Amino acid sequence: MKDTPVSLEEYIEPAAPAARHSRQVLVRWGSRVVAVGGDAPVRVQAMTNTDTVDAIGTAIQVKELAVAGSEMVRITVNTPEAAQAVPYIRDQLDRMGIDVPLIGDFHYNGHRLLTEVPACAEALSKYRINPGNVGKGDKHDKQFAQMVEVAARHDKPVRIGVNWGSLDQELLAQMMDENAKLAEPFEPQQIMYRAIITSAIQSARRAEQLGLRADQIILSCKMSGVQDLVSVYQALAKRCDYALHLGLTEAGMGTKGTVASTAALALLLQQGIGDTIRVSLTPQPGEARTQEVVVALEILQSLGLRSFNPSVTACPGCGRTTSTTFQELAKQIDDYLRAQMPLWKERYPGVETMKVAVMGCIVNGPGESKHADIGISLPGTGEAPAAPVFIDGEKALTLRGERIAQEFQTLVEDYIEKRFGAATTAH
Ligand code: SF4
Repeated sequence: MKDTPVSLEEYIEPAAPAARHSRQVLVRWGSRVVAVGGDAPVRVQAMTNTDTVDAIGTAIQVKELAVAGSEMVRITVNTPEAAQAVPYIRDQLDRMGIDVPLIGDFHYNGHRLLTEVPACAEALSKYRINPGNVGKGDKHDKQFAQMVEVAARHDKPVRIGVNWGSLDQELLAQMMDENAKLAEPFEPQQIMYRAIITSAIQSARRAEQLGLRADQIILSCKMSGVQDLVSVYQALAKRCDYALHLGLTEAGMGTKGTVASTAALALLLQQGIGDTIRVSLTPQPGEARTQEVVVALEILQSLGLRSFNPSVTACPGCGRTTSTTFQELAKQIDDYLRAQMPLWKERYPGVETMKVAVMGCIVNGPGESKHADIGISLPGTGEAPAAPVFIDGEKALTLRGERIAQEFQTLVEDYIEKRFGAATTAH
């Protein structure tokens, strides 16, 4: 292929996530209203892994997830005891000043729990109904209707959450039979995609017939394969304008779960698909449940969809720098910024958009530092023991000696106070 030069007149479109076109759903608790879909920002959700019957333990974990940045938190409601614990959990959260909306996750017996424990139905801000797990045969429609009627009566939105691991087997069998009769049948995988989407949309239409408004319905069709999820959500988004909840189900642990979730969600969010997200990470032994929230926030921030924390650009390091000083400094600054954010969010509006660079040597250090709001370029092997600091694109000063880390941290604090502190006064 012949090389084609880029002319100065040529306009190169900057990549950006496409606009979303879903209906807006309002999820409320007290005076807190979380808008999902429409022009609202993409929301972050998480789910507890405590026994809901342990109301105190569950309330503490909900609080941790909310403080980490989850804007709605889902809890399992699987037994009468769990349903009875829900109002106590809500009460504990209210006492702690945590107004994050709670979502109840119902399977198999949700129709009974919601009707027999009205205080649970009231304390929840949204119900998750899995149409594959609401009863078989004649019971399916009746029990689904019971849950939707409770939602309509309490004016609560629902998420109709289809999961391929619990897909309505009767619907799938019926669609497979119809396919088998075709002269040229489709692949079983394609029929499964269709069954998942059909289950979600048919259930949503039925919920509307039963009294829910379209702006009280959120849909999800979770799959555990990245390409499966992309295929299904692309098709789903074309066929309806319900708000969509996005997540790769059973993503797995650690790096695998994080990367798979990021790949799947990024591909869809870039296309304007998805109004709330959850990263279904299996915590590694000793790992905090809040890690799934950290990853979700990073996905949205990396795509430029939302800003939660100042970002730290750090180079990976290479043979030009043999010391770990810059790694330690990058981590120290990153940890420090995150730790301060709950306070700074109030005091310094806009600080979450700040960019900090911590670079390892002269090769990319000064350039990357100039692109950041404040950046430092540490000396690589053989370079003079000096660390130039750049502020707003200009070289401001050079740090030397043993206390470079502390002095840079002070410079960051001064910068934040000067640049974002003024916004507080102005407001
Ligand atoms: S900035 Fe320097 S130390 Fe960092 S990766 Fe690039 S060349 Fe290596």
